[in-house]
Amino acid sequence: MRFASLGSGSRGNSTLIEHGDTLLMIDNGFSIKETDKRMVKLGVTAEDISAILVTHEHGDHASGVARYAKRYDIPVWASHGTARMVKNLATIQIFNSHKPFDLGEFSIEPVLVPHDAREPTQFVFRANTLKLGVMTDIGSITPHMAGVLTGCDALLLECNYDRDMLVNGPYPESVKRRVLGHWGHLDNQQAIGLLEQLDIDKLQHLVLAHISKKNNSHELVLDSVSAAIQCDRAWLQVIDQDEGLAWCNIEKNTQSKNILHA
Ligand SMILES: [Zn+2]
Ligand SMILES: [Zn+2]
Repeated sequence: MRFASLGSGSRGNSTLIEHGDTLLMIDNGFSIKETDKRMVKLGVTAEDISAILVTHEHGDHASGVARYAKRYDIPVWASHGTARMVKNLATIQIFNSHKPFDLGEFSIEPVLVPHDAREPTQFVFRANTLKLGVMTDIGSITPHMAGVLTGCDALLLECNYDRDMLVNGPYPESVKRRVLGHWGHLDNQQAIGLLEQLDIDKLQHLVLAHISKKNNSHELVLDSVSAAIQCDRAWLQVIDQDEGLAWCNIEKNTQSKNILHA
């Protein structure tokens, strides 16, 4: 199994996950041109995509979904609530957000998350006994979330903001309240709090995502997370809004490479 990102942050998100013949795109907040350009960099094309899954209707995740799906005739999947909110889609396949379902070679477990959208879900992907968690746009940690994410082989996790930077930063008070709230985004310490609840001994990749440009920095995320979970800082990865993330292979029967608790 492998995964990559076309970019992550408030100006657009899209993740690719591949196993065997199945290539899934999770969200698309980019133009067709920009998506194609970023796909080429990763060595894949729209024709390779089996389906697009939408986590929720916010523009940074959903604005590019309908036009990309229409241009290349790709099926789109979403929860009932998200399906109602994503505009301009001719057809959409609905999944039950409380039940795992199969798409190609993947078994997909939707994870309902507290976020200010209609019925937002994030996902755990399983294939070939490997488990990948993809979690962004989370206002607060739930016991359910911690339960399903434990024991992942790879995890892509939101580290949206540093609390002090947000509180003292340029955002209007109403926006600060939204981001800080239970249905907003995860800050670095909340993400660390979640990691501390999980069995992460098998993790081959820990990728920090949806990092705010104004209220956080890659350096701060890498410093805070590596110190908290005692891993090699160079092993961690962050997703850049413009550069995305190159393919990360998740291998079977491998010892964790994360030098945890060194
Ligand atoms: Zn977002
Ligand atoms: Zn959102």
